Amino acid sequence: MIHEPSYIALSKSGKLRETANRLLKNLESCTLCPRQCKVNRLKGEMGICKTGRYASVSSVHAHFGEEPPLVGFNGSGTVFITSCSLMCNFCQNYEVSHLGEGQEVPPVEFAAHILSLQWAGCHNINFVTPTHVIPQIVEAVAIAVEQGLNIPLVYNSSGYDNPETLGLIQGIFDIYMPDLKFFNPELSAETCNAPDYADWAKNTLREMYRQVGDLQVDEQEIAYRGLIVRHLVLPGQLSDTQNILTFIAEEISPLTYTNLMPQFRPCGAVSKHPVLGRRLTKQEFEQAQGYARSLGLRLAE
Ligand code: SF4
Repeated sequence: MIHEPSYIALSKSGKLRETANRLLKNLESCTLCPRQCKVNRLKGEMGICKTGRYASVSSVHAHFGEEPPLVGFNGSGTVFITSCSLMCNFCQNYEVSHLGEGQEVPPVEFAAHILSLQWAGCHNINFVTPTHVIPQIVEAVAIAVEQGLNIPLVYNSSGYDNPETLGLIQGIFDIYMPDLKFFNPELSAETCNAPDYADWAKNTLREMYRQVGDLQVDEQEIAYRGLIVRHLVLPGQLSDTQNILTFIAEEISPLTYTNLMPQFRPCGAVSKHPVLGRRLTKQEFEQAQGYARSLGLRLAE
């Protein structure tokens, strides 16, 4: 059975281009994300994400390290966007998110990158860190759909999104894959200058789930719609992890496809941090997994 991505209908009705134009207008006084910088990006002013009118991309390739329902047989078609609006000081992709490694891509070139992944056989287009360039992505997707794009789009974000902006893109992304990083406001203030991370991320997940529901896979176990939540388990933060997992199970859905990640590395500014300046222990990770299982969550293998 073929599952047609929902953006196809939006494209046919002309609403995809309409949405792109509406989102681009927002760049005149940018409130796309919780930072609410209100700078005029169309005139070259830049806010926290240091991105103007056009998106920049650091790499475009089939990725085989993502969650199995995204990777399938031919990989997840990953587009790594340059810069970020959250900018954690322990970021594992520091050069891309903080230092701006990448090339600016006008819309037609951006659309060509997207299509190249589909022609390479990838199962989806996976936009990594899309929050600050949603208008540019939708603009490029509108062009790509007219040239044959027909695989699902994945919105792979930090979870620090603006639900109002997400409401505008309803029907464009069939798969949402946010992080849920921390609920402890002191930790999010210290590491990302975002004491309000938890409040925004909770509402972000509610909106994403409202739009796409639980993860659905086809007869080959490849995802075509739904929510995937990622949580990087941090050293010494088990109670925060437990609060996060409880929230997912009780306030989103106990069937949420959840990827607990053990690969935290104490790089950058946290290398000498009293709590975060070490790797996660095996025991800590097993405790997090055990807790998630006790809640009945659907854990990524
Ligand atoms: S997208 Fe960038 S400029 Fe816009 S509000 Fe967020 S950080 Fe500020």
